[in-house]
Amino acid sequence: MESTVAQKLEAIHNLQLLDSKLDAIIKVRGALPEEVQDLEDEIAGYETRLEKFQSEIDSFDNEIKALKESIKDSEKLIKKYQEQQMNVRNNREYDAITKELELQDLEIQVAKKKITEAGHRIETKKVDLEELSLIKKDRQKDLDQKNSELTSIVSESETDETKLNNDREKAKKKVDERLLKSYTKIRANAKNGLAVVMVKRGACGGCFNTVPPQRQADIREKKKLIVCEHCGRILAGVEDEIIEEVAPKKKRATKASKA
Ligand SMILES: [Zn+2]
Repeated sequence: MESTVAQKLEAIHNLQLLDSKLDAIIKVRGALPEEVQDLEDEIAGYETRLEKFQSEIDSFDNEIKALKESIKDSEKLIKKYQEQQMNVRNNREYDAITKELELQDLEIQVAKKKITEAGHRIETKKVDLEELSLIKKDRQKDLDQKNSELTSIVSESETDETKLNNDREKAKKKVDERLLKSYTKIRANAKNGLAVVMVKRGACGGCFNTVPPQRQADIREKKKLIVCEHCGRILAGVEDEIIEEVAPKKKRATKASKA
C-alpha cells in the first residue's frame, strides 16, 4: 500500500531523530577513534622498518659466516701447499706453490677486511634498530592509553548505542526507498548531520533561513515533500511555539530599550 506524504515524513523524521542521537554518542568519542587508527598505522610502519633492519642484519651475518668458511678453506689449502712444498723436486715447483700460498694469504686478508666491514654495518643497523624500537615502544604506550580511554567511553554508551542501532534498522525499513537515498545524500553533506528538520520560529531548523509563510502553510498541509530553498533539507513540519516564544522576546526588547 502506498503511504501518504505525512506518513513518509513521519518515518524519515523518526530516522533522523535516531541518527541524531547516534551522532551525539559518536561525537562524545571525539577524535579518539581517528587517533587510535593513526597510531596503529604509524606502529605498523615501524614494524615494517624494524623487520627490514633485522633482515639486513641477518644478511650481513650470513655474509660473515660465508667469509669465515672461505678463510677456513684457504687455511686448509695453505696447510696442504706447505706439506707439498716440503717434497718438491725442483725450484720451479717450489715457486709455483709459493705463488699459490701468497694467493690464499691474500684471499684470507680480503675476507677478514670484508668481515670487519660487515661487522661495522651490523653495529650501525643495530643502533638504528634500537632507536626505532624505543620510538615504537613509546607510541605503543600512547596507543594503549588511547585504546583504553576509547574502550571506556564506548562501554559507557554501548547499551544505548545498541538499542539505537536496532531501532534505526527498524525505522529505516519504514522509510520510502527514494526518500532514504536523498536523506543519506543530504546527511552526508550536512555538517550537523541533519537532513530532516522542522521549521522553528519561522526558520529552517537546519540553516536558520526564513521560510516564507505560504511555504510554511504548504509544509503544514503535508500534501507534498518540501525542501528548504536554501539548504535543501527536508522540512518535516512546523513547530507550534510561536505564541509562547513571541511574548518573552518582546519583554526582553522592552527591557533593552529602557536601559
Ligand atoms: Zn535550510
